[in-house]
Amino acid sequence: MAEETFFRKIINKEIPSDMLYQDDYVTAFRDISPQAPTHILIIPNKLIATANDIETEDEVLIGKLYTAAKKLALQEGIAESGYRLIMNCNRDGGQEVYHIHLHLVGGKPLGRLISV
Ligand code: 5GP
Repeated sequence: MAEETFFRKIINKEIPSDMLYQDDYVTAFRDISPQAPTHILIIPNKLIATANDIETEDEVLIGKLYTAAKKLALQEGIAESGYRLIMNCNRDGGQEVYHIHLHLVGGKPLGRLISV
């Protein structure tokens, strides 16, 4: 059984965040340590610990992360210039918080990869 992270408290508004969007399925808020002019985290309200834990029943929910990302990119004014969507997985992927999240990063040229 996956353990809740502090993202649960952000979803429940028990701790403050710069929240940009929330509905019954998805929450989006600005990363506390932005790596680019726009750096937003988009998370499912349901706890899924890692990309390895995404099940077939989650496919629609995962799609909602991407449609939220698309809308936020438009809202941030970076849809045309471009951006990157990243989901880190486990230790070698650089995952720190074990509640899946899409990083929406943009607002400057990012190169082909952020780092390897
Ligand atoms: P990961 O490394 O797991 O892919 O990404 C976790 C992200 O959460 C990092 O980019 C980190 O800056 C961000 N983060 C960590 N603590 C907080 C916090 O308290 N509030 C917000 N908004 N973001 C956080």
